[in-house]
Amino acid sequence: MSLSQQQDRQHCFHPFSNYHQLNRDGARVIVKGEGIYVYDEQGNKILDAMAGLWCVNLGYSAKPLIEAAQKQFNTLPYYNLFFQTTHSPAAKLAAKLAEITPAKLNHVFFTGSGSECNDTVLRTVRHYWACLGQPQKQIVISRDNAYHGSTMAGASLGGMKPMHAQGGLPIPGIVHIPQPYHFGEGQGVDVEMFGQQRAQLLEQKILELGVENVAAFIAEPIQGAGGVIIPPDSYWPEIQRICDHYGILLIVDEVICGFGRTGEWFASQTYAITPDLMCLAKGITSGYLPLGAVMVSDRIAQVLQEHDDEFTHGFTYSGHPVACAVALATIEEMEKNHLVEKVRNDIAPYLAQKWLALAEHPLVGEARIKGMMAAIELVENKATLKRYNKTKAAGTLCRNICVSNGLIMRAVGDTMIIAPPLIISKAEVDELIQLAWQCLDQTYAQLT
Ligand code: PLP
Repeated sequence: MSLSQQQDRQHCFHPFSNYHQLNRDGARVIVKGEGIYVYDEQGNKILDAMAGLWCVNLGYSAKPLIEAAQKQFNTLPYYNLFFQTTHSPAAKLAAKLAEITPAKLNHVFFTGSGSECNDTVLRTVRHYWACLGQPQKQIVISRDNAYHGSTMAGASLGGMKPMHAQGGLPIPGIVHIPQPYHFGEGQGVDVEMFGQQRAQLLEQKILELGVENVAAFIAEPIQGAGGVIIPPDSYWPEIQRICDHYGILLIVDEVICGFGRTGEWFASQTYAITPDLMCLAKGITSGYLPLGAVMVSDRIAQVLQEHDDEFTHGFTYSGHPVACAVALATIEEMEKNHLVEKVRNDIAPYLAQKWLALAEHPLVGEARIKGMMAAIELVENKATLKRYNKTKAAGTLCRNICVSNGLIMRAVGDTMIIAPPLIISKAEVDELIQLAWQCLDQTYAQLT
């Protein structure tokens, strides 16, 4: 066991890890990143098809980001935005975000992460309705199997049952409706019909709770951590109609989908959604530094600005100048290289063509993709789409086989998912797909 592994085992608790297994086996040590690859302590080169945690959109070698950080460190390494103070990186980034996000999102509240964004939206929507004299309008409706972060509010807004089970979540005032997961929950129902039905559950829930009690609906345009659940085309228009009809706020969590992943700057554009609030993080700095941003619509901003009292909310690192400088460099780099257009017109269609062919594999019940996020469903029986018995842990087996073959794919139960860096080349896509076939073959061989 290396020194890093020893120190880690003795002292470091890890996010989303089984501490028993961690203590028994030690952690994998990553020492270097280059392009779309990471290297472990043993010198293994691993193709990172998850872009870290859906964030390293520009890969591990984006020099302009590093230079922007160095420059900002030399000028103003820290200052905050509390008590009516600002600095140029935050102000400039706020203006840039207002320019590139959908039309009515012209205001920004900076945070340090996606979870903090979701804590911020919960407090913002409740404050908004209170400012309008409707303090009882508190409830936020979310969805089962959504992921909105790990803080108390983030995990409550999320719909992950195992997270709720640890620590008495959700906190009061958050309720969940079923998700638009056709493969998992809609077999036998026409896909567009299913999308409509799942969206209409929002309307039912609003009526059940009383519209006078409902503040907002929150959702990821495509559920990421839940297993890259791509909603049917009928879903979002119906959700938008319902939010508009009842005047409840629509919060779109674009922490994963934002910054080009779906082939537009934001998935709200992909799905023609008009959100009142939008959460951004991860790709905003290509993961190089922690930063989140809540985009706030003019409708909300106007109410908050008319209310002559303090909004008692904020984080020490809200608008950290170095993180903001790196975010600006990230956006500039994406614009300079026409990265979003390249994703939309070139690399995403190329990846889609190769990825969807994985549906032919005997272990795969469905392959799906939108932009640069994709999933395959592992099944025991291709004809009936029956899953493996849970004890077989097919997804975990496949994930471990991937790592030993030099590929990072993530397993969500028996759903294998990828979200590679947006800068991946066609040759690298070929390599990813070839490795995926090989790993599926090996997994299949071990399961049968
Ligand atoms: N929202 C979504 C959609 C996410 O996928 C994540 C993280 O994966 C978060 C929020 C939480 O972000 P963070 O881990 O930066 O707190």
